[in-house]
Amino acid sequence: MKCPYCEEPRTRVLETNHDKRGGTRRRRQCRNCGERFSSYELPVLATPLLIKKDNTREEFRRDKLLAGLRVACAKRPISAAAIENIAGEIEAELQQMGSAEVKSRIVGDLAIKKLKELDEVAYIRYAIVYLGLQDLDSIQEEIERLLNE
Ligand SMILES: [Zn+2]
Repeated sequence: MKCPYCEEPRTRVLETNHDKRGGTRRRRQCRNCGERFSSYELPVLATPLLIKKDNTREEFRRDKLLAGLRVACAKRPISAAAIENIAGEIEAELQQMGSAEVKSRIVGDLAIKKLKELDEVAYIRYAIVYLGLQDLDSIQEEIERLLNE
């Protein structure tokens, strides 16, 4: 933590307080100029990288997930807030897995489970488009797999 007055990296911690949000506030004093200032630290939850079918990795993109959810929910009685909520829940669940990498399939599975509770049409649409299901048999198989989980 650099001093905001003189950019000295050495500071002395005078006081440390933890708050309910998981943050830590520290009262510091610069070892060079003697000025006092506060710093605030919040934990950053990392979203794991997604491992795709071809074994390449890509970053989780909330906007991409949202776009897919919106297409699946088009013209259904589902509010924009409900869709945003699903994307937020999925991102939080990925973060809570605590892994550096997860299979990208997990994102689709989570989306499908959440859509299923919300709207059956949106759920089937998502399964068809985003899992790349092209024929009735594989769609049926997918639905059965999901129902059995
Ligand atoms: Zn200083």
